[in-house]
Amino acid sequence: MNMPLSDTIVGIATLQGASALNVLRVSGSEAISAVAQIFQGKDLCEVPTHTVHYGHIVENGAVIDEVMVSVFRRPRSFTGEDVVEISTHGGSFIPNKILSLLIQKGCRTAERGEFSQRAFTNGRIDLTQAESIMDMISAKNDAQLRLAARGLQGEVRSLVGEMQSVLLGLLSQIEVNIDYPEYDDVVQVTDEILAPGLEGLKSRMDDLLRKASTGKVIRDGIRTVIVGKPNVGKSSLLNSLLREDKAIVTDISGTTRDIVEGEWNLGGIVLRLADTAGIRDTSDVIEQIGIGKSKKALEEADLVLLVLDQSRKMTQEDLQLLEMTKAKTRIIVGNKIDLGKNVDLEKEKMINVSALTSAGIDKLEAEVKRLFVDESLFGASEVLLSNARHIGKIREARQSVEDALVACARHLPVDMVEIDIRNAWEALGEITGECGSETLVSSLFSRFCLGK
Ligand code: GDP
Repeated sequence: MNMPLSDTIVGIATLQGASALNVLRVSGSEAISAVAQIFQGKDLCEVPTHTVHYGHIVENGAVIDEVMVSVFRRPRSFTGEDVVEISTHGGSFIPNKILSLLIQKGCRTAERGEFSQRAFTNGRIDLTQAESIMDMISAKNDAQLRLAARGLQGEVRSLVGEMQSVLLGLLSQIEVNIDYPEYDDVVQVTDEILAPGLEGLKSRMDDLLRKASTGKVIRDGIRTVIVGKPNVGKSSLLNSLLREDKAIVTDISGTTRDIVEGEWNLGGIVLRLADTAGIRDTSDVIEQIGIGKSKKALEEADLVLLVLDQSRKMTQEDLQLLEMTKAKTRIIVGNKIDLGKNVDLEKEKMINVSALTSAGIDKLEAEVKRLFVDESLFGASEVLLSNARHIGKIREARQSVEDALVACARHLPVDMVEIDIRNAWEALGEITGECGSETLVSSLFSRFCLGK
């Protein structure tokens, strides 16, 4: 997506359909004059910023719709440019009609995420805030919303900024040393100044990464597959879990998240029960798991629920599945406990449940939480990283900090240490978008929805 940023763009910011209202958003240097040409009520070119106006959209003197128009003059607008928002009546005909009128007046249809990209380019928000907007839109529970809202307020941005300024401080010490070598010898700079600063940063990053696993689970949920031989009660368990709540949320098309069969909302954590039809429905489970989709689902899963049937003795097939999933994070579920207890695993923990009566489901919930989340972090006052891209970059930065520490310990020339510190600084800068390629930025915004 290679977009000139100077032209004026228009997009429908709301879902079209049988709604009461829709909003069109226009941004760019000609935004106000373009809308003024089709608006009757007041001369929009003369109105003050941050004001709302009642009037009509007209075409050749005929009224198209009765609307409210909000005017935001640059730079105090979402994009940092002149922005007009038109609240129209709902449906899809009216907003599209107004959209085409504005295109006739010289506007261009906005690309996906282009409003947000302009906000980023004009310094109104950084990448973490732009990503948080998308997270807010796709939030499905309070915990996800809280995380996203904090990101939008700039908490991740400030956190990254703090760490960057520590690195900048160290870099300036190095510069002083290089410029005035007679004041300090190299060993002293690395041992007394750089190493403690780097150590402090490394442990801060370790702490962030440790806690981020909970953040990531809140944001992305836990990809879960249910496996087991036929008739052990996998479908019944799935239905029981989904009925327990709680919430059946089908995935919204157009978002980047995977196909989801159902979502089990477990007090702020979403278990995304992936479509493992290939595993469930075949008569030869083991053979099927060895191939294609089923194998992939299993490989990609964060959690495997391996279901055994408590009403019967285990078979070879159960043993093979136990073996096949042993390297995964898994919970062994002994289903049909209402019919007896014929399976006993010597070395492994098993959660006995009945998909029929829901007995033991609470224990299953507790086990999921024990495996995946540190609940003390749910309402924590500190920033919880949750976005895989941010976490990846913090890992990169941490590695560079560690490289710098190794270089210090070996008393390598200070400019070698400097390279590692710069790398760490850049990896952090890619989180906010201060550093990094245009391709990254474009690909990130292209995942946004239209009108955003
Ligand atoms: P799947 O092939 O593994 O998906 O198994 P199903 O969910 O289709 O269940 C197979 C049979 O076991 C059905 O007749 C279910 O009603 C029954 N079933 C499933 N779970 C339980 C349970 O906890 N207790 C009892 N008594 N029957 C169950």
